[in-house]
Amino acid sequence: MTKCVNCKSRALKKRWVERTRSVANHVFAAKLPAEVCAVCATQYFSDPTVENFDLSIAFALLEAGANDAQALKFLRSVTGLQGKEFAALLGVRPETASRWEQGRGAIDHATYTVLRQLVAEKQQHQTNTADFLRSLKRPKRLPKRVNLSPRKAA
Ligand SMILES: [Zn+2]
Repeated sequence: MTKCVNCKSRALKKRWVERTRSVANHVFAAKLPAEVCAVCATQYFSDPTVENFDLSIAFALLEAGANDAQALKFLRSVTGLQGKEFAALLGVRPETASRWEQGRGAIDHATYTVLRQLVAEKQQHQTNTADFLRSLKRPKRLPKRVNLSPRKAA
């Protein structure tokens, strides 16, 4: 950022700024790196900074086992998945996933654990779990004899 969008000033200073976000009836707060306009005090946070903040909120919700409608909606949004795709990955009907986000039906522990894994992999920029869930939709035929590559002992 070279110029304040609000006042067009070029006097932007790097600062640590407290940012808060309300999710599921909790206020989450963190000091985040930002660029602050010296003239109008408008704060600018980079996209990765905001994404990491949201991931931190998601982990706080997951560690608490928060599974109310707002928490589930937020957690799904953090995975970057649309409702329909999310339901398809989890092997539930879109109406079922939609009910979770409306507080009209509880998510089971196994599904919640998969959701946690999807969030964790989002942070690590991995898609192993999503890829595996997608692969379950088109199972491969396993031949009668399967030659395995040797694995190192742990
Ligand atoms: Zn400004």
